[in-house]
Formats: sequence, C-alpha cells, structure tokens
Amino acid sequence: MREGGKRSVTMPKSMVQIQRCDVEQCSYNKNKECHTMAITVGGPQDPCPSCDTYVAIGQKAGVPDVQGAVGACKVSACQFNESLECSAQNIVVGLHDGHPDCQTYRKR
Ligand code: SF4
Ligand code: SF4
Repeated sequence: MREGGKRSVTMPKSMVQIQRCDVEQCSYNKNKECHTMAITVGGPQDPCPSCDTYVAIGQKAGVPDVQGAVGACKVSACQFNESLECSAQNIVVGLHDGHPDCQTYRKR
C-alpha cells in the first residue's frame, strides 16, 4: 500500500575529508592530519578561505581516530561551493600569510 503524502528523503552526501593539513601548531593537528569532526571554512568578512576552526591552545585536542572533514564552508566565491557546502573530492589546508587557508579553493 502506498503511503500517501510522504516526501522522499534525500540522503546526505558523505562529508568532504581533509586530506592533509600542514598547520601543525593547531591543537587539532597531529602528523599533518586534522582530528576534529568538522571544520568551518571562511569566517565573516574573511577575505581568505581560512579554517575558522583553527585553535592553538598549546595542547592537543580532537579525537585521534577521527579524520577531519568539512562541515560548512561560507566561501561562496569558490567553484567547489554549492549552497555554502563543499563539493570537492577532498581538501588540503595549509598556511597562507600566517593563517590556515583551504588550499583547494578555486575562484569561480
Ligand atoms: S584543518 Fe583547521 S582545525 Fe584542522 S588541523 Fe588544520 S587548522 Fe586545525
Ligand atoms: S574547496 Fe572551496 S568550497 Fe571546499 S572548503 Fe575549500 S573553499 Fe570551501
């Protein structure tokens, strides 16, 4: 029997993983891998595609078994950005002018 009125549910895409992060001073970084569940890329009025989750508190943080991924990305100028979500296969994060940037960013 058909269940009338039910909407189809779209499964979420798998999260875009952080392949490598060279910002070793970040508390979430261990051996150039990010170990927090989900980062946010691009802060308000940020001219760069920066990792807004970066923190350096002098001690390690995150979950060792977790490989970091992109949660939200506010960089709508990037060609991989769809509705403020990242659609790249994976991303790489590295230092730019002393702050962590998404190096997979490509201008539209
Ligand atoms: S991706 Fe961001 S939060 Fe993760 S280790 Fe690098 S700078 Fe830190
Ligand atoms: S590749 Fe583009 S859309 Fe994906 S996280 Fe980096 S800046 Fe954002």
